[in-house]
Amino acid sequence: MSFSTLGLSAPLLRALEEAGYTAPTPIQAQAIPLALDGRDLLGIAQTGTGKTAAFALPMLHRLAATPGRPPRAGCHALVLSPTRELASQIADNIKVYGRHLGLSVATVFGGVPHRPQVRALERGVDIVVGTPGRLLDHLNGRTLRLDAVRVFVLDEADRMLDQGFLPDVRRVVPALPRDRQTLFFSATMPREIERLAADILREPARVEV
Ligand code: AMP
Repeated sequence: MSFSTLGLSAPLLRALEEAGYTAPTPIQAQAIPLALDGRDLLGIAQTGTGKTAAFALPMLHRLAATPGRPPRAGCHALVLSPTRELASQIADNIKVYGRHLGLSVATVFGGVPHRPQVRALERGVDIVVGTPGRLLDHLNGRTLRLDAVRVFVLDEADRMLDQGFLPDVRRVVPALPRDRQTLFFSATMPREIERLAADILREPARVEV
């Protein structure tokens, strides 16, 4: 199996080759064709399985396929992650995979000054990666709007639950357009997470490794 059979665009395949990725991992092989087809995904996978690329590659493919500037203080894709370390890692990976696409990426998380994040969001950015609390601050302060989001990714949903972020996640969702693609990842599926998935996904394909 090679990446070129999955349906990804040439600039993404080139970036993967440059990153030394020779073959998709099982979660990537399952998830990428379904996500490229426009399906919502429920991915059950642990860290280390390559799940970041499993959502980031189809997200980048989709954003690049329909170019256009995001609105002021808006974005075209939102990735929510439970910790700032993970959000930074995800943003770094997105930059590696998307290096030939010319898309902009901003991170939004707590523990760092607010102003530089506001400035980064001001003109609009293609992809925002953030943690739920700080993201809500930006929504409430109107320094970020989510009405132009086409792809929404929720990563490590079970860790969101463990850290008490589920109420914040549920407050973010109504700010998203109904007509969007949602890619939902969790290592385990406790009842609250099954319920959240049922509430925010539309006829999802379930992929599990
Ligand atoms: P993740 O599970 O997304 O945290 O990824 C775990 C590690 O595997 C990261 O360092 C990725 O850069 C790397 N990785 C992901 N997919 C592949 C692949 N298809 N080939 C080689 N390395 C990969």
